[in-house]
Amino acid sequence: MKSRRSFLLKTGLSALAIAVPKIESFSGESPKNFAAIRPVQDGPVLKVALMGLGSYAARVADAMQSCKRAKITGLISGTPSKLESWSKKYAVPEANCYNYETYHQIKDNPDIDAVYVITPNALHKPHALGVAAAGKHVICEKPMSVNASDAKEMVEFCKKAGVHLLIGYRMHFEANTLKVVNMRRDGAFGEIKFFQGLSGFRIGDPNQWRLNAELAGGGAMMDIGIYSINGARYMVGEEPIWVTAQEVKTDPVKFKEGVDETITFQMGFPSGVVASCLSTYSMNYLDKFFLNGTNGYAEMQPSTGYGPIKGRTHQGPLDEPHVTHQTTQMDEMAAIILDGKKASIPVDGEEGLKDMVIIDAIYKAVKTGGKVSLV
Ligand code: NAD
Repeated sequence: MKSRRSFLLKTGLSALAIAVPKIESFSGESPKNFAAIRPVQDGPVLKVALMGLGSYAARVADAMQSCKRAKITGLISGTPSKLESWSKKYAVPEANCYNYETYHQIKDNPDIDAVYVITPNALHKPHALGVAAAGKHVICEKPMSVNASDAKEMVEFCKKAGVHLLIGYRMHFEANTLKVVNMRRDGAFGEIKFFQGLSGFRIGDPNQWRLNAELAGGGAMMDIGIYSINGARYMVGEEPIWVTAQEVKTDPVKFKEGVDETITFQMGFPSGVVASCLSTYSMNYLDKFFLNGTNGYAEMQPSTGYGPIKGRTHQGPLDEPHVTHQTTQMDEMAAIILDGKKASIPVDGEEGLKDMVIIDAIYKAVKTGGKVSLV
């Protein structure tokens, strides 16, 4: 496949990628007959600039070396030495390297179709808006913003600008996850009754931006708890109608005002399903989903880490082959943007907004101690 890409590049045919079909934004459940794991079709290549050359961007960049439909063609960073080393490593011409003052000039650069925003959470909104204003598609890391009103503004802005806004929900393309979701859609678990999501890790360096409320927009909930929120929604297949939540803080020096350490939370769904979840920055070995229905169950552990995802259902082990999540994600996102493909589990801005509405409600429930309605 790599040789095909070099052929395209040599012959200049990758320019075909600029033909971007408009699609209606897609949300909600897919029909049952959506194939569980559909490899992307061959086609034009999405030319992507990475913004924010930190640790996750490095993982994405390495994963993209195996993509069939997406290629790194630009870099945006405030650190000149990173631009220099990354441009060498990933063969990105100097002319396609920008900093945060100059990146608006991408509007005149046909080598860039989309920008993948991988900066700290609170910068996602200004950066996404900047990219959309330059007429380029936005791929934005989770959490898409630091609250629902910012997320809504991002969705509306991108819609007006006529560009896609996709959120980096890599699990939505992971084969074992899709297998469970499709089993649930096919009724294999019977009536769903309960979901448990445990998401957490012990955070290190107290000086990192993840523990700075202004840049992180919160604490563990924004960073890792969001996996249990998002997972509950795709595993159960409904949208929650209420939340309750309780916070525990054992280290108020490390976890300052506005930075949550541990939150347990519950979500109620229209059918009566209840989700019971844990989000924390102070416990390791917490990456587990459990779904229980009248006719069966699914358990996944790890459920959202970089993989391989492992688990079983009442029918047997989950043993779909592991593919680097970010490779599949970027190939699938290229197909969404360039071919108008619909994701089996949506990854658009509206999907990200739904999680932000729930996060706002969880923080409100922590403060009030009461049940917060989502309808
Ligand atoms: P990181 O600290 O390693 O990288 C952040 C990058 O942003 C750095 O290169 C930094 O220089 C840059 N940056 C630009 N402006 C900055 C500013 N004002 N302050 C601080 N840094 C600034 O963080 P990361 O782990 O790469 O996380 C980046 C984003 O990616 C976060 O939103 C995070 O939630 C998300 N992420 C997603 C996953 C996933 O699996 N989907 C995994 C890790 C991180």
